[in-house]
Amino acid sequence: MKPAAFRYHRARDADGAVRLLAELGEEAKALAGGQSLVAMMAYRLARPRHLVDIGGLRELDRLRTDADGALRVGALTTHHTVERAPDSLLGPGFAVVRETMRWIGHLPIRTRGTAGGSLAHADATAEWCLLAVALDAELHVLGPHGTRRIAAADFFLGPYTTALEPDELLVEIVFPHPAPYAAVTEFAERRGDFALASAAVVLDRDGGTVRGGRVALGGVGPVPLRAAAAERVLADGGTFAECARAAADALPEEGRGAAYRRQLIRTLVRRACEEADAR
Ligand SMILES: Cc1cc2nc3c(=O)[nH]c(=O)nc-3n(C[C@H](O)[C@H](O)[C@H](O)COP(=O)(O)OP(=O)(O)OC[C@H]3O[C@@H](n4cnc5c(N)ncnc54)[C@H](O)[C@@H]3O)c2cc1C
Repeated sequence: MKPAAFRYHRARDADGAVRLLAELGEEAKALAGGQSLVAMMAYRLARPRHLVDIGGLRELDRLRTDADGALRVGALTTHHTVERAPDSLLGPGFAVVRETMRWIGHLPIRTRGTAGGSLAHADATAEWCLLAVALDAELHVLGPHGTRRIAAADFFLGPYTTALEPDELLVEIVFPHPAPYAAVTEFAERRGDFALASAAVVLDRDGGTVRGGRVALGGVGPVPLRAAAAERVLADGGTFAECARAAADALPEEGRGAAYRRQLIRTLVRRACEEADAR
C-alpha cells in the first residue's frame, strides 16, 4: 500500500516546528526518524494531511551528562548514537541506557529511529518507554506557550497515546538520577522484534546490601507499569526470586496468554535483578 496524500513541510528550528504544528492543527504530524510513522502511513493506519519534518533540527540531537549527574537526551538522538556513546557521555550511572538500545529492532532502524519518536509513539513494549518509567525520567515539551515538564509516570496515557498535545514537540528527555545497578531484559520471538514482555530493575544498594529498588514491566499492560508488589519485596529485604514471583503474581490470571506472560515476567524480573546486582 502507499500512504494517503500529504503535504510535506520542513521545520527550520524547534520553535518553527511548533508554529507549523499549531497552524496546521490536528491533521499534522511531526516526522522524526520515520521508522514508525512512515510504516503506519504505508498501511494507512495513520493518514496525516501534513508532515512537519523535524529530522534536520540538530539542536535536538544531543546527549550529555550534567554536573548534577542527570543525563539529558535530545529528542532527535538516535538509538544508535546512544548505543555507541562513549563512557565519557554515559558512564556507569547510565550504562543501562546504552545497553538497552541493543534490544531495539535492527541496526538500520536504530540508525534512524529517535528517542523522542519512540516516546511520542508510545508503544507499550518500546524500550525507551520502559526506561523512562523505570528511571523516573522527565520529558521536556515545547508548545506554542513555552515549555513544560511531564513526569514519565504521567506521560503515557494508553497504547500509542501520550500527554502530548498535537501542537507540542518533545524536545528532551532527562534522566535525573544515575542508576549504576540497573538492567533491562526482555523476550521477543525473533531477534529484532518488539518484545513480548520486558523488565527493568534499578537496585538501590548500600555497599553490597540491596536496600530497595524499582521494577518496571513492559508488555503486560497498555503502558509500561511499575511493579509495586515486587518493589515492596526488595524494600523488605526479600530475595530476587521472591521479588520476581511478586511481580508475576500481581498480573492477571485470566485471559489469553496470561499464564505464559506471568511465567515470562517471573523469569525476566529475576534475570534483571541478578544482572543489575552483578554490575
Ligand atoms: C521493523 C521494525 C522493528 C522495530 N523494533 C522496535 C523495537 O524492538 N523496539 C522499539 O522500541 N522500537 C522498535 N521499532 C520502532 C523504532 O524504535 C522507531 O524508531 C520509533 O518507534 C519511532 O521513532 P522515529 O524517530 O522513527 O519516529 P517517527 O516514526 O518519525 O514518529 C513516530 C511518532 O512520534 C511522533 N514524534 C516523533 N518525534 C516527535 C517529537 N520530538 N515530538 C513529538 N512527536 C514526535 C510522530 O509524529 C509520530 O506520531 C521498530 C521499527 C521497525 C520498522
